[in-house]
Amino acid sequence: MIMRTPILAGNWKMYKTMAEASEFAEQLTNEGPIPYVEKVICAPFTALPIMSTILRESQFSLGAQNMHFEEQGAFTGEISPLMLTEMGVQYVIIGHSERRQYFNETDETVNKKAKAALAHGLTPIVCVGESLAEQESGLTEAIVKNQMEAALAGIDPEQVKTMVIAYEPIWAIGTGKTSTAEDANHTIGYIRNVVRAACGDAAADAIRIQYGGSVKPDNIVELLKQPEIDGALVGGASLTVDGYLSLVAGALSARG
Ligand code: 13P
Repeated sequence: MIMRTPILAGNWKMYKTMAEASEFAEQLTNEGPIPYVEKVICAPFTALPIMSTILRESQFSLGAQNMHFEEQGAFTGEISPLMLTEMGVQYVIIGHSERRQYFNETDETVNKKAKAALAHGLTPIVCVGESLAEQESGLTEAIVKNQMEAALAGIDPEQVKTMVIAYEPIWAIGTGKTSTAEDANHTIGYIRNVVRAACGDAAADAIRIQYGGSVKPDNIVELLKQPEIDGALVGGASLTVDGYLSLVAGALSARG
């Protein structure tokens, strides 16, 4: 059986001031070692420097929620991969459905950003997923296949191994509606087969694919017990220290 380290990532979205974020981080430093689960918090840009200072040398890693694909340039309001790595950031969410929906993120920019992240030693967490209308029309697999093939285009299979994918059905984000564990497992297995066809067995077996969309402490265990689901990307339930740590505990008990 192939063992992939589970990865639990909180996506704070546009929540938490620096003061709130640093209080959260300080509380995390009181935790004893939690084995096996890779633990990430994707915070707003403004909170990353203080959190990086507090969580340096800790078991918790930091992610950003977006970045530009160029190292520098006349791109007002953007943040580059260099600026992230300088702060000690190790992960970056790319192509979240909210960015695709509200900020004109396209399959093409997702691919450029994934390549730029990898070139700078950042682990991209690339988000894919279908809308409610697409799901109701039976288009889930066609949509995620297109998104995945576009995201992975031109990336060396050796690098694909290190990537993280988050399958987030848009209708499940922030709605309290979760995909059933079986359906999520099925679609994630399908996504892995898309990786297999595009990049080969080694990449497909190594790449980690999370589920996201209304994951809570009370459903994470069932989700992560599924063999294809390698972790979760969690919004609302990751905003309190207790919630976040319960999610980590759930991931550990499901897969540990
Ligand atoms: P919720 O967990 O709040 O549904 O958000 C999911 C999400 O978008 C994570 O990226």
